Amino acid sequence: MRKPKIVVLGAGYGGLMTVTRLQKQLGSNDADIVLVNKNDYHYETTWLHEASAGTLTPDQVRYDIANVIDRSKVDFVKDTALKVDTEAKKVQLEKGDDLSYDYLVIALGGAPETFGIKGLDKYAFSITNVNTARQIREHIEYQFATYKVDQKPERLTIVVGGAGFTGIEFLGELGNRIPELCKEYDIEKDMVKVICVEAAPTALPGFDPELVEYATALLERKNVEFRIGTAIKEATPEGIVVAKGEDDTEEIKAGTVVWAAGVRGNPIIVESGIENMRGRVKVEPDLRAPGLSDVFVIGDCSLVINEEINRPYPPTAQIAMQQGELVASNLAKLVNGKTNLDSFNFDNKGTVCSLGDDDAIGVVFGKKLTGTKASFMKKMIDNRALYMIGGIPLTVKKGKFNLLK
Ligand code: FAD
Repeated sequence: MRKPKIVVLGAGYGGLMTVTRLQKQLGSNDADIVLVNKNDYHYETTWLHEASAGTLTPDQVRYDIANVIDRSKVDFVKDTALKVDTEAKKVQLEKGDDLSYDYLVIALGGAPETFGIKGLDKYAFSITNVNTARQIREHIEYQFATYKVDQKPERLTIVVGGAGFTGIEFLGELGNRIPELCKEYDIEKDMVKVICVEAAPTALPGFDPELVEYATALLERKNVEFRIGTAIKEATPEGIVVAKGEDDTEEIKAGTVVWAAGVRGNPIIVESGIENMRGRVKVEPDLRAPGLSDVFVIGDCSLVINEEINRPYPPTAQIAMQQGELVASNLAKLVNGKTNLDSFNFDNKGTVCSLGDDDAIGVVFGKKLTGTKASFMKKMIDNRALYMIGGIPLTVKKGKFNLLK
């Protein structure tokens, strides 16, 4: 009998979790497993703000996929997926031949959502992958170096669009990195401006207000200026234009603009004609795409409703990994001829938002945390993600062990 072929697209949190669980649950005679990823490495998306600010190097936030997959069971294909033909059950790749599948897992992560704001896609950076993180880090360093030559003050202004999770974590890292850059490039610290522009009426919408207050006060002490309730209207080669009052606007000149305010699903979802909302698929309880019994969608490409508030859960690595675990066990059931698939129930273990290497805020198992305790917890969460995918060897190799900073 022909073995079923399982194709997993994306080796991020969701994809790698699926594959590393599948390789434990299925024998090599049960199914052919193929993993497709753009690069031969996985990067920790949740650490990209550190690589972008320059507090970690790009190599610290990535590891080789070959180190965590069992190559006797999983065939790794380094290629870019372009489109899925759900009728022909084929994936179109950039370089290789079309890849047919019996079961498909789409775990390709998200893409920046610019909400149609003019110029953002052209003039703002986004914290999306190792390459964009490297670009942001080097751009900021270039601005500091060039300021010493042309003395243009706007080179030392960094605008961060969005005071959500990613924006705040990036600001926290900048707070640690800028004093180092000032020292390296002989620049007075008060010449540097970091401005965070957020359209919503608060930073970190949805977070506990006391913790939000803690975070903004700490970042203000690190010289971050918050413009809350202020919408970015346009990004230009010189900086950004923000709304001021009813009909007025104001220009903020800045050498660096980083957009950290929105995520949508991978463009392949739209390109492949799969039913979606902003590129995200509202999945069935068993994580299959509506009407497609052989296609599972997980991570930032999926949309799961929090029934308690009837709103989607924000996309997180925590959800992506839990979904990966469930999809692996559902696929193992299908391969073994069972049809009673399990439903996804998100087990929210809490959220911790770092404010640099030495501070954080969070709610873990219902308990509020700040300062060193929260920062310790954040590093434990980072290490746990490594452990879940690559066990002790990966955790020892890539883990964060400066726990009590
Ligand atoms: P990803 O982990 O992003 O992986 C997608 C993979 O697909 C990548 O390997 C990519 O290279 C590959 N890929 C993409 N397109 C293609 C293609 N066309 N062909 C082949 N391969 C492709 N979440 C938390 O839970 N906690 C946090 O503290 C947290 N902090 C964050 C901080 C930052 C700076 C950012 C940006 C996000 C943070 N998140 C956090 C959110 C979290 O990172 C995402 O929700 C999570 O990465 C989604 O996992 P995923 O498996 O869907 O995609």
